[in-house]
Amino acid sequence: MAKNKGKENICNFCGEAIPMNSLLIHGKDSSICEVCAEAVGDILRDWNQNHSSHSPGVVGKSVKKMLKPQEIKAYLDQYVIGQDEAKKVISVAVYNHYKRIFNQPAAVDEVEIEKSNIILVGETGTGKTLMARTIAKMLDVPFCIADATVFTEAGYVGEDVESILTRLLQAADYKVDQAERGIVFIDEIDKVARKSDNPSITRDVSGEGVQQSLLKLLEGSKVNVPPQGGRKHPEQRFIEVNTQNILFIASGAFNSIDKIIGQRMNTNVIGYNSKSKQLDKNNMMQYITTQDLRMFGLIPELCGRFPVITYMDSLDAKALKRILLEPKNALIKQYERLFDIDGIKLEFTDATLDYIVEKAVELNLGARGLRSIIEKIMTNAMYEFPGTKKKKVVIDLDYAKEQFEHSVYSFLD
Ligand code: ADP
Repeated sequence: MAKNKGKENICNFCGEAIPMNSLLIHGKDSSICEVCAEAVGDILRDWNQNHSSHSPGVVGKSVKKMLKPQEIKAYLDQYVIGQDEAKKVISVAVYNHYKRIFNQPAAVDEVEIEKSNIILVGETGTGKTLMARTIAKMLDVPFCIADATVFTEAGYVGEDVESILTRLLQAADYKVDQAERGIVFIDEIDKVARKSDNPSITRDVSGEGVQQSLLKLLEGSKVNVPPQGGRKHPEQRFIEVNTQNILFIASGAFNSIDKIIGQRMNTNVIGYNSKSKQLDKNNMMQYITTQDLRMFGLIPELCGRFPVITYMDSLDAKALKRILLEPKNALIKQYERLFDIDGIKLEFTDATLDYIVEKAVELNLGARGLRSIIEKIMTNAMYEFPGTKKKKVVIDLDYAKEQFEHSVYSFLD
């Protein structure tokens, strides 16, 4: 292969005469110009996307190269503060899930490992989404988030559950083989709980109906997915996605489920007083089981598809302060970096950090509140200082209070 050596040449693909000084790549018996070479490149890329089974990420790795559960937890530790029990349970579930993918039984009578879909129970802002997102990042697999409340049973107003897979396909750049090994995060699963214990009184389109619809995705079946989603494009051709190896992580706050757990534990321990004394009444979530989710209103079939249940701890002031400072992309580090780009050293005093945490506790949104509080405190500084001669900015308690108290949040008090 040689480049155009100077004289005018013909591209054997488009037949055009290629002027001197333009790129023409010579093969043994023919030549190709830059435009045709690019077109060939595009065709190759498309072909690879649709046919290749060798894609990056977890696809193509062997189980030997996969991080072991303890290493998965150590990875999570870099991004998620606390939540040790959930991290441990999830690390094992994810490891087993991918072990299962790499070891599809060769013979019919070989033991088939079942899927380890996970339900994460915990208050808002405790890191449920962050946990799932971090796992997907670690594995380098496609990831999408869906909100269970927007779905309805097929045929009713609202989104069909298949649109979850549309999002996953989009996250995988429409590479079906990658989407089929991706992770789907279904948020607010508790909001589609059955409202009444008696399922037969009325049709429950928004609750039980949605749970029933979700089953077909969770069952590991081949689903026809509209590539553009929705019902607005009736002409679109469906893409078949096999959900057998997709890991589903569902999450929800399940408000007041601790009472259900408490009731069950009390009933179970009648006559075993010594046992009941050992119950940690301040953290009933640690005892959560499928039975409690069923009492809450998840249908048994759905619970059956989520064999792994774990819980997230509520975040106290100490945990919130660690979240401000410790994760790899901690909020404080992000603001320091923003100022650093302008050549300004940014510092928060310890009292300011405590103030931010105190306000976040008041907002009762878990770690979710931290970002908006700092943003309110920092907006004026971020507006004023870039472009000035300032080399150092210290955000002390007085400044933080003044900025925050003049912001909208002060009206929430
Ligand atoms: P949830 O899904 O439980 O409602 P998120 O995962 O969306 O909460 O958390 C919101 C934000 O709060 C995240 O983007 C993250 O910055 C922060 N956050 C929440 N919990 C943690 C945690 N345990 N460790 C680190 N950051 C956290």
